[in-house]
Amino acid sequence: MDPKYQRVKLNDGHFIPILGFGTYAPEEVPKREALEVTKFAIEVGFRHIDCAHAYKNEEYVGQAIRSKIADGTVKREDIFYTSKLWTTCLQPELVQSALEKSLKSLQLDYVDLYLIHTPVALKPGEEILPTDEDGKLIFDFVDLCHTWEVSPRRREPGEEPGEREPPSFLPLALEKCKDAGLTKSIGVSNFNHKQLEKILNKPGLKYKPVCNQVECHPYLNQSKLLEFCKSHDIVLVAYGALGAQRLSQWINPNHPHLLEDPVLCAIAKKHKQTPALVALRYQVQRGVVVLAKSFNKKRIKENIQVFDFELAPEDMEAIDGIKRNIRYYEFLPVIDHPEYPYSEEY
Ligand code: NDP
Repeated sequence: MDPKYQRVKLNDGHFIPILGFGTYAPEEVPKREALEVTKFAIEVGFRHIDCAHAYKNEEYVGQAIRSKIADGTVKREDIFYTSKLWTTCLQPELVQSALEKSLKSLQLDYVDLYLIHTPVALKPGEEILPTDEDGKLIFDFVDLCHTWEVSPRRREPGEEPGEREPPSFLPLALEKCKDAGLTKSIGVSNFNHKQLEKILNKPGLKYKPVCNQVECHPYLNQSKLLEFCKSHDIVLVAYGALGAQRLSQWINPNHPHLLEDPVLCAIAKKHKQTPALVALRYQVQRGVVVLAKSFNKKRIKENIQVFDFELAPEDMEAIDGIKRNIRYYEFLPVIDHPEYPYSEEY
């Protein structure tokens, strides 16, 4: 089936393609490599591209998208592009300029989805990971509801309109960026259910987050968070769905390789598919939007075949059975931050 028609409706009426192309590559990979692989991904049928300011390659990913628009392969509206607000810009007055910086790198007029990258705020500034002289990350403390949108202060009884409400009182945080057309949709990433609840219960909430992008794969299948998200019409987007990139900076090397799991391998063999395709298909069939990163043309082409087969209910059950709470991206350097999301069960 043509992958570009496989989409899910978001709670704000826009549609997100079920399969997304991940563009985060390790530091040692030249940033420019994102250009060729993103162009190739669009050529083979990917329509959803996941990127972020912190990946430092938005310039090349944007160039790839514009080049595929220019050569007539796609129109801008065929592409669903996600960017993310980096964690040094969670103070509400920094949100709009951060998004505008991404748009300038991309040379696009809007993004389709803008996410709070993680709930853990770090000290504002140019550095992606600000550290002190001991090499420790410097935290910032932000009310996540303010990053979403600072609510207009209600007038006191008898107070004249405008008297204490200069326009600068309301910085352009996420909801206003959507209203201004800089992004079509807004959402979050790496939030636990309590952090999501905080936004959902925010007084004066105008837009619910459309999604929560989190690590999700058969070893950490996020069944409770998925149920919570579904009950609030929030889409769960899975990253690390192929077992994550095993980057020494982030990943515990003792964690097992997902794609070598015997159950996944047996199901793959039965369907004459690869374990990677089974891991992606598992998410599609449980209503999860799934990202697949590859900078290898053969594997990029392989991953789009996720729509060409179906897992039986007993396959899905068997994959549910291999969950074992293995989180590849633990983000341990921020474990002491009050908004560290993984202290909660889900
Ligand atoms: P994945 O789990 O998607 O992929 C892991 C590795 O699998 C890749 O390095 C890739 O290597 C390999 N691979 C891809 N396809 C196949 C295949 N068919 N067979 C065998 N191996 C394969 O990686 P990520 O952890 O990067 O997650 C995907 C994306 O999610 C990221 O690129 C990023 O866009 C996003 N993300 C978001 C985060 C957040 O905090 N919101 C955090 C982490 C990721 P190769 O390139 O050599 O093919």
